[in-house]
Amino acid sequence: MFEELAEGVFRRPYPFLRINIGVVIGEEGVLLVDTRESEEAARELSRELRTLTTKPVRWVVNTHWHWDHVFGNALFPGAVIWGHRSCRRRLLVDPAPHFKDARRWMPRDRRDEIERVRVVPPKQTFEALTSIDIGGNRVSATYHGRGHTDADVVVRCAGVTFMGDLVEQGKSPEMGDSYPLEWPATLAAARPGVGPTVVPGHGDLLSATDIDHQADRLERVAALLRQVLFEGRPAEEAVRRGPIPELHMRKALARARSEAGIPA
Ligand SMILES: [Zn+2]
Repeated sequence: MFEELAEGVFRRPYPFLRINIGVVIGEEGVLLVDTRESEEAARELSRELRTLTTKPVRWVVNTHWHWDHVFGNALFPGAVIWGHRSCRRRLLVDPAPHFKDARRWMPRDRRDEIERVRVVPPKQTFEALTSIDIGGNRVSATYHGRGHTDADVVVRCAGVTFMGDLVEQGKSPEMGDSYPLEWPATLAAARPGVGPTVVPGHGDLLSATDIDHQADRLERVAALLRQVLFEGRPAEEAVRRGPIPELHMRKALARARSEAGIPA
């Protein structure tokens, strides 16, 4: 159920994809960090919120545009939805890739939930920083550059940092839409003031030291990729020596090539 991390600040971990939803309760209403993978899932979240407070959900921050974080947005029509401007653009311009991803990952018996999703992109966007006054608890959302996607937002409130998928716990970093050459610098830029409690997009709580370990690992990935792209070292060697599984190294290499504008 809900885990209180600071006064009025909670996370709700769900078994599916081990995703974490953030909840911040202010005098004026509730702010959610992400909205889950479907409207049915968001409805369940909404029902559970009633065990915490009778206040309405008035704000949502989307940490990025991946379906498992935004497909519940439509369930909160009374909320102002915030996100990085790339998050809005990606959801607005072409929803098809998001549905394709969702159909691939959603269990078969829940796939009809995906077909019912109405994609609602963030309405309020920002470039680098925004501060949301929810009454009592002040929430900030910041963007530090490209990393896991081109729209990863970090949400901070009362010593709790919601990192989205810039960091995940218990699995390899998700490289499919990433910018592996820039990711380490983005994480370094986000690092000051992180914690003491860190909520990753997926998995168990982390400490600020865990973030440093993840940053090291991403830097080792980036260093190997740079050797392949700019020093002519063999790709297979980098893939083998990588600190993440080979499949993920291959994805990272493909992404880094397009990031650097170098054809395969
Ligand atoms: Zn995710």
